[in-house]
Amino acid sequence: MTNRKTGLPMPLFLLSLPKTEDNKNIHHISELCNMKIKVEPLNRKTGPAQCFRCQGFFHSSRFCTRNPKCAKCGKPHLTRDCKKTAAEEPVCCHCQGNHPANFLGIPKKNPLNKPPPPPKVNAWEERIKRRKRCRGDPGAEQAA
Ligand SMILES: [Zn+2]
Ligand SMILES: [Zn+2]
Ligand SMILES: [Zn+2]
Repeated sequence: MTNRKTGLPMPLFLLSLPKTEDNKNIHHISELCNMKIKVEPLNRKTGPAQCFRCQGFFHSSRFCTRNPKCAKCGKPHLTRDCKKTAAEEPVCCHCQGNHPANFLGIPKKNPLNKPPPPPKVNAWEERIKRRKRCRGDPGAEQAA
């Protein structure tokens, strides 16, 4: 994975595995190629930003010029100015459902709910190479 701000590669690798009992064991791996590693589930909340102002996706409220929309009641005001009480049901400005607009369970409308894109080919190649090295690929040892 690369840093969003600097574009530099980070010591993080995104793996997507099918949800099987076997693959759950990946969370018990703490060492790989003599390196300490940590396996963490992907936190989807770190995905594309949702605008606090208009509840639109993929842009920051800092640069938003759209009309404000409330995340709680869907009415045209900033969320922090909302007068909705806890007793009233929230209204989603995307689907008019009874949940806040930043609720991650919005079906389809919320792009954060889409499955993560497949890992980049380069990352896979790197991993396969590293794995081969791990296993002590006889070809590689002779060459060295
Ligand atoms: Zn916005
Ligand atoms: Zn409101
Ligand atoms: Zn909704």
